[in-house]
Amino acid sequence: MTASTLMAAAGRTLIIGSTGFIGRFVAEACLASGRPTYLLVRSGLISPSKSKTIKCLHDKGAIVIHGSINDQELMEKLLRENKIEVVISAVGGASILDQLVLIDAIKASPNVKRFLPSEFGHDIDRANPVEPGLTMYNEKRKVRRCIEEIGIPYTYICCNSIAAWPYHDNTHPADVLPPLDRFQIYGDGSVKAYFVTGTDIGKFTIKTLDDVRTINKSIHFRPPSNYLNINELATLWEGKIRRTLPRVTVTEDDLLAAAKEMRIPESIVASFTHDIFIKGCQINFSIDKPTDVDVSSLYPELPFLTMDECFDEFLKKIVETPKAIEKVAEEAEGEEEEEVIAMKKP
Ligand code: NDP
Repeated sequence: MTASTLMAAAGRTLIIGSTGFIGRFVAEACLASGRPTYLLVRSGLISPSKSKTIKCLHDKGAIVIHGSINDQELMEKLLRENKIEVVISAVGGASILDQLVLIDAIKASPNVKRFLPSEFGHDIDRANPVEPGLTMYNEKRKVRRCIEEIGIPYTYICCNSIAAWPYHDNTHPADVLPPLDRFQIYGDGSVKAYFVTGTDIGKFTIKTLDDVRTINKSIHFRPPSNYLNINELATLWEGKIRRTLPRVTVTEDDLLAAAKEMRIPESIVASFTHDIFIKGCQINFSIDKPTDVDVSSLYPELPFLTMDECFDEFLKKIVETPKAIEKVAEEAEGEEEEEVIAMKKP
């Protein structure tokens, strides 16, 4: 198959959720690829940081349209008038079922050649977390079944874990420094997972859009360089900060108890953490169905950022923050641990 048969013309792409954690990476990558990029942004009260994100993406060439995916009429008009060919949704966990209205709008829009629903995690037909994560997966499964039933060409992005220290109570751990006081090790720390930076999630997601090999497929991100267990992650980070830190065990029962508390979103993250680091949900299956594709086999020439490089970036953040250096130094001298814990939340 030649490159020209693999690629169609880069189409107008609508991104929903660009003010969110994953959506921003996807929007940045879409703009960097030169595709005509449209962003759907909800009206109403927008925080200063979200306004800044929208302005930044607009300055890079994005066309900003206001609205919500819950408004089918608006969505149909928007898709038709702007001749949108690809729709990528990165709505958050609370809005997964809102996509059912969006799917109806896509169904009525013959221009749309591909839909990427809000996945960006595990293969939700294989992973089976405890509640409350299970409810979110059931919603994502419902969206998948609806897309398949209607026959909209789709691509499911199964990018596994975000490259960062996997805090079991934080939805967006890439926003937080790895520990400087102590490691919380899940179980015996030996269950492996795949870690992918937000930038690579964006980059590879955009690569799949015009590729005929990714139509109606689940695309699995399994970079061999980032296949690590939490003990290995801890050792890697210790090498960066040139200190060893105490390791505290968080047992399976601790994670299940945190999930059972039903604090949203923390308990959802606890249920996923249990699924990843106790049950091995990312690695307990082979990608051998006809609908499975390993992204590395599609684009072997494109490297992933390694965890080693990712931790270098975190280290830079510490070095660039004088207060943080002070605290690391204090820790090294055996000062109280509690002060450093506060740094976990930026
Ligand atoms: P966020 O909550 O950070 O952002 C959600 C975005 O969707 C916001 O821009 C929000 O807009 C927008 N949005 C929500 N509802 C609507 C609507 N009805 N109409 C238009 N826009 C809407 O989401 P995340 O980035 O955390 O999650 C995105 C996906 O990525 C989810 O499927 C999640 O499960 C997955 N994920 C995966 C991770 C991993 O480690 N693999 C980590 C985190 C998420 P507004 O600004 O108006 O609120």
